[in-house]
Amino acid sequence: METCKYLQGCAFFNDPSVQRFQTLFDQLKADYCHGNFADCARYQVASRIGREHVPTSMLPTQLQWAEMILRRHSEESGGSGA
Ligand code: SF4
Repeated sequence: METCKYLQGCAFFNDPSVQRFQTLFDQLKADYCHGNFADCARYQVASRIGREHVPTSMLPTQLQWAEMILRRHSEESGGSGA
């Protein structure tokens, strides 16, 4: 199975504070980072407008937040949808 190209340096994947929720986060990493990374909210923001726009605390499942960031970025850059 393919691995996400943003894995190295990804704040979610490498955050030591997630150890409190290790089982949940191990499952998210398996599902997203080593699986369906294209469905990850962090990946969608990073791949479309750059990983510098990904909030540190964003979870892979927070797609509504990702959509809001992408919409706001599009509006601020003149609606090009870039
Ligand atoms: S799938 Fe998402 S959380 Fe996992 S490494 Fe890629 S961008 Fe980070």
